[in-house]
Parts: sequence; structure tokens; C-alpha cells
Amino acid sequence: MTGRKVFLTPSGTHALELAFMALALESGSEVILPSFTFSSTANALLMAGLKPVFVDIRSDTLNLDETLVEKRVTSRTKAILPVHYAGVGCEMNPILEIANRHGLKIVEDAAQGIDACYDGKPLGTIGNLGAYSFHQTKNVTCGEGGALIVSDQALVKTVEIHREKGTNRTAFLNNEIDKYTWIDVGSSYLLADPLAAILLAQFEEVRQVTGARKRVFETYRTRLDVLREYHVRLPEIPATCRSNYHNFYLILRSNVERDRLLGHLRERGIGATFHFVPLHDSPAARKFGLESGPLPVTEEMSGRILRLPIYPNLGSDEQERVIGSVLNFFKE
Ligand SMILES: *Cc1c(COP(=O)(O)O)cnc(C)c1O
Repeated sequence: MTGRKVFLTPSGTHALELAFMALALESGSEVILPSFTFSSTANALLMAGLKPVFVDIRSDTLNLDETLVEKRVTSRTKAILPVHYAGVGCEMNPILEIANRHGLKIVEDAAQGIDACYDGKPLGTIGNLGAYSFHQTKNVTCGEGGALIVSDQALVKTVEIHREKGTNRTAFLNNEIDKYTWIDVGSSYLLADPLAAILLAQFEEVRQVTGARKRVFETYRTRLDVLREYHVRLPEIPATCRSNYHNFYLILRSNVERDRLLGHLRERGIGATFHFVPLHDSPAARKFGLESGPLPVTEEMSGRILRLPIYPNLGSDEQERVIGSVLNFFKE
């Protein structure tokens, strides 16, 4: 880990923005990313004058389909932006090989990836840069917060300048220079100390948080395994990955069945939700001309996914009520 630096940011969104500001790719360059993600992933590209190129996902992990990436590489492609969904890593080894072959940078959207690994490496530390989120919906949180992991040592100084309003104040604080001045474009990508203090307390308990989530996750997985009889799919964790159990989802047979189950659970006061409305099929994609043609797996999975409540102190009685309500729906 020599030379790797971590910078706290006001959010995961800001970490992604800072990543692309630091890479300073030529305006109009293409970046490959999944459409099954949060708007922030694509916004970071637009704000840096880059063009998002959406690629489909795998139906088992809902992560970027590494077998489709190389087909979309052109002479304008400059980076790949994989998103680690639900704390399960993308197949990074093949993605790294593609990046090496074509001289592309990798920025990992590891917003959901704290305390999870791919091939023994922490998510967010595998590419040139990696972004974490500490938003209140994430496993470790300070309300709003994030971090940028800079593994590419050549980018450390640049990141230090961009996050300090384009000044070399960091070098000044480190006693490397005797006064600081404006030297490049920048913004304020700093996390306030009081929030960092809250975050530190959360970090000290991260293994317990992951452990508690794992228990909830495994209980769902065991008790809902019978749903396979109804052709409902449960989340899969490849052998190369260690998950942080960020979420637990079901893939229903159809969009109609998913919406009916959502209604059934909500009537019973259970906070089940869908996830990501695909970016390539959004008003913003139309506004910016980013339609990518059909992404069949993304469209299919986005219509069929349903997430169940998962958090460390979800009581076993409460979880049994969720499980009972799901099973009921299928037995009715
Ligand atoms: C949460 C999330 C973000 C944004 O993080 P914020 O801290 O809310 O700005 C970006 N990408 C993904 C995949 C996320 O889940």
C-alpha cells in the first residue's frame, strides 16, 4: 500500500467529481460505465466534459459485464468506471487487463464497497482511483461524506490541489513551502472535522457492522431459499469476492410480480424498495444525447429487483415478520 493516499470528501459524489478533475482527460473523451447505477456516477463525467458510454451488466451480480467492455472501447475511450453493486466486487482482473491493453485509467465507484474485497484486495484500491460514500444509506456513515482513494501516486499532488480550492495549501500545511497560492482549478472537497470524528467512531466498529449485516443477510438467504421453487432469484456472491452485505435483494419473475410484492410488503408497513432506474433510459440521457441502444439485462433486472430491509440492528422478530410476509405472498 506504499504511497496510496485517502482523502475524505463531503460525499461520494464529490469523490467521483474530484477523481475526474484529477485525471484531466481530454474533453469529449469516452468513459465506459454501467447504466445500472446512481446519477452521480455519470454526473462526474459530464462535469468533466466527458462522454458516458453505458455498457450492460451481468445478471448474477448486477455488476458491469466485463465480457462486453472491450467491444465498446474506441480510440476516444480513456477510462473505465466500474460500480461495485451491493458490496460485491466487479470482475476486476479482466477489467484491469482491458485497461492495460488500451492504456485506460480505472476509477472504481466503490460507494457501496467499504469493508469488501475482490481477489483479496479492498474495493476502491484496485484501480487508479476509487470513491467511497458515507451517506446515511451506506454501511458506514457520517450523514453525508465520502472518500477518494488515490492509488496512482502520480495523482496525489493534483488531488491535494483540486480539493483545496486549487491552491497548494496542503503542501503549506505539511511544511513543504512557506506560503500558499492559487495554482490550478479547484473546489472545496473537504469533509468537516466534526463529521470526520463521527466517521472515525463508525470505522472502529466496521467489522461488527459487517458481521451484523452478514447475519441478517444469511438469515434471508436461508429462509427465502424456498423461493427458488417460484423461480425467484437471490443475490450471488462469487468466490472471488468478500461482500459487505450492503443490501439483500430478490429478482422476481417479472416487473408485474415485483410491483405486486412491493405493494404487498408496503401495505404491511415493510420498507421494501426497487433500485436504480437505468441511466441510459432517463430524461437526462435524452437531454444529453446519451441513449446507448438497448441494454437488455439492465432493463430486465431494474424492473424485477426488490430490496428487503437490511441493517445491523434489525431484530430477529422484525426480520421474521418480513420473511413471513414475503413467503405469504407466494403461498396466497
Ligand atoms: C451512494 C452512491 C453514490 C453517491 O454517494 P453520495 O455520498 O450519496 O454522494 C454514488 N454511486 C453509487 C453506486 C452509490 O451507491
